[in-house]
Amino acid sequence: MRIRPSVVPGRAVARRSPAPRASALLARAAFAFAVLASLALAPTAAAQFTCCNPWVDVGGALPGTHGAPLLELSGSMAPGTVVTLDMENALELAPTYLILGFGQIGVPFQGGVLVPQPDVIRLFVTDGNGRLGFAVTWPGVPAGTEVVLQAWIEDPVGPFGYAASNGVSGLGPEDPPPGAFPADWVNGSDCGNEPEIQVQQYDENTYILRQSMCTDFEGPFMFLLFGQDEVLLYDTGAGGIPIANVVNAVIADWKAAHGNPSLDLLVAHTHSHGDHVAGDGQFQGMPDTTVVGTSATAVMNFWGFQDWPNDTVQRDLGGRVLDVLAIPGHQAAHIAIYDHETALLLTGDTLYPGFLFIFGAVSQDNFAKYRASIQRLVDFTADKPVQWVFGTHVEMTSTPGVAYPYGTSNQPNERDPQLLRAHLLELNAAVQAMGANPQVEVHDDFIIQPSG
Ligand SMILES: [Zn+2]
Repeated sequence: MRIRPSVVPGRAVARRSPAPRASALLARAAFAFAVLASLALAPTAAAQFTCCNPWVDVGGALPGTHGAPLLELSGSMAPGTVVTLDMENALELAPTYLILGFGQIGVPFQGGVLVPQPDVIRLFVTDGNGRLGFAVTWPGVPAGTEVVLQAWIEDPVGPFGYAASNGVSGLGPEDPPPGAFPADWVNGSDCGNEPEIQVQQYDENTYILRQSMCTDFEGPFMFLLFGQDEVLLYDTGAGGIPIANVVNAVIADWKAAHGNPSLDLLVAHTHSHGDHVAGDGQFQGMPDTTVVGTSATAVMNFWGFQDWPNDTVQRDLGGRVLDVLAIPGHQAAHIAIYDHETALLLTGDTLYPGFLFIFGAVSQDNFAKYRASIQRLVDFTADKPVQWVFGTHVEMTSTPGVAYPYGTSNQPNERDPQLLRAHLLELNAAVQAMGANPQVEVHDDFIIQPSG
């Protein structure tokens, strides 16, 4: 039987103190155990992970009857995700103290080494095969916090009647730096005064641009990400705006503020619909500039996908690494970009506060592709900080569940464009529940809009 306790840290701040004596450790252990034993067991939701593992083996095992017990953890350290713990090679049906700490102490203990600072201790019993395994819903820890676990097993072969597993250490993800949004985005309500393109400096090396809805009702957002070797312009707008002039001016300012380095310009796209690529022509033939093509094949080849849409590829702008995911569904050449520097997840027309159009949902099997793409985004971000999920339009009003009619070009009360990973999880739950039966579904912050 698998037991599923809820792990709740006893203290969330790593502590430095002299190595305590064993008797003090035992006293503290008894106290910590009493505290933990009072916690209620809670069931966990199922979740899947396909990516990286933050847990590392830090050694310190003390062999027992079956040699060194092996402890392994897997799963993300993002809050609300599922972490699984497995231990093998321990004595059968043996009382086992699982010790969790917010840091390592590595002091001699019972003839071995106590690896974690003993902040939380819980008693289990190994099964008939000398194994211990369970899953917990990870509560999340402050950024940069180290979490260390080790199991101590009652085993007569151990020097003082105990064997111990190796220690396992995980480091919580660092918080991404905050960025800046404007008090108001241009929203088509003041066409006599608002600029055709609003340029918002999000942080030192990141700009978010918005095309005025006075020039095109789509009012798309565009992104300018600076690395040391290359600057990425992600989308070129819906047309009718001097996007190249504005982008060149921003690049010139950035270069002047950074010692005038040479910088290549990469022009790429969230996807190939006209309101995201219309400005491409202004960049064709510019020096030191690459304009990525708009066909799915061109997109695959440029970014270097080998197994579209399943593989994730990277591009290094020079000290700034982007992960690029294929997310077809809204459109065949759609990609998402995760920027490690800002922890922004740029989702294009696949997720934004508005109508999430999935054309040819059944007739072209696009809903199935969309559903799989959303799941991939969820899996990919399971172990990464996500500061904001940022798409390319806003069509929701500031009233939950209420959108402007599609085509509106004056949106004085529009919702903020940025979303959270929680919205991605909400979207995923909704589209997975629909299965093969896509339908229009209104949520507070987006509207799932399959057709065809
Ligand atoms: Zn589109």
